[in-house]
Amino acid sequence: MSHIAFIGLGNMGGPMAQNLLKAGHTLSVFDLSAIATKVLADAGALVAPSAHAAVDQADIVVSMLPASRHVEGLFLGTEGIIGRMRPGALIIECSTIASQSAIAVAGAATAAGLAMIDAPVSGGTGGAIAGTLTFMVGGPAEVLERARPVLLAMGKNIFHAGAHGAGQIAKICNNMLLGILMAGTAEALALGMANGLDPRVLSDIMSKSSGRNWVLDVYNPIPGVMENVPASRGYTGGFGVNLMLKDLGLAAESAMAAKSPVPLGELARNLYALHSGSGAGELDFSSIVQLLQSKKEK
Ligand code: NAD
Repeated sequence: MSHIAFIGLGNMGGPMAQNLLKAGHTLSVFDLSAIATKVLADAGALVAPSAHAAVDQADIVVSMLPASRHVEGLFLGTEGIIGRMRPGALIIECSTIASQSAIAVAGAATAAGLAMIDAPVSGGTGGAIAGTLTFMVGGPAEVLERARPVLLAMGKNIFHAGAHGAGQIAKICNNMLLGILMAGTAEALALGMANGLDPRVLSDIMSKSSGRNWVLDVYNPIPGVMENVPASRGYTGGFGVNLMLKDLGLAAESAMAAKSPVPLGELARNLYALHSGSGAGELDFSSIVQLLQSKKEK
């Protein structure tokens, strides 16, 4: 068992850290939110007063932060934790960030004699709680093998996408598709409701027809159709609109860099931007349905 430092205990990181504790690892945790650290302290983790203090004794550092700037701020520069980590320690960076940021962290880690993989995840908060996440890994195969037992305590599918940064490219391809699927599914449900259909009946029909997809299977955007999804708890505790907007922005940047057309991804990005601009940025991304519903359906 390892001594693991876990930085970032939000909707995803909190339950991921809990699963590492359950697997028998010793955990030092840090988050800017005292509410988030309290939950982990109650579960048996050591709460560190800073990220630097958290990584001092750790063999492995796992990070799960919102965006590139948080990850670069944590690891890089004179204040970064790379300079504080134990020689030979391993970084498992799980946030969804720009592939260039992951490559920059990997470069600094390698120069300091540390190992690193980018290992963004899919599976949502449900997968984080159940320990069934999918990891998309970028970095050397031998570093992935070193990380594998830790990843298996938090997830069940582990894919090696390629070199450093490749995990992030796989992740934004997946999330661009997810953003499109959520907007499309929400649009179809709103259309049915506007024409008098019961969303439960329509969801049931489409989930057994050719429109079936992950959103209909496990993440229905209409309140009350499914239990235990963000839509049925006021669009809280899931994947925020602003995080989806960030991922669609990363997809757009990668598309421009590669001169690859992403017309549906860009349309979805504009829809989530409109929704965020109306004040919904902190709601779960399935709330995009509110943008597409006529007044009488809301
Ligand atoms: P979140 O906003 O719920 O949690 C982020 C946590 O990081 C917060 O607790 C915040 O206090 C903490 N934090 C921010 N800056 C910090 C710092 N400098 N030091 C320590 N803690 C800091 O976000 P989340 O939903 O857990 O998502 C985290 C990452 O996982 C994002 O990159 C997101 O895109 C990705 N992701 C989310 C989901 C999902 O369903 N929520 C699914 C897959 C991937």
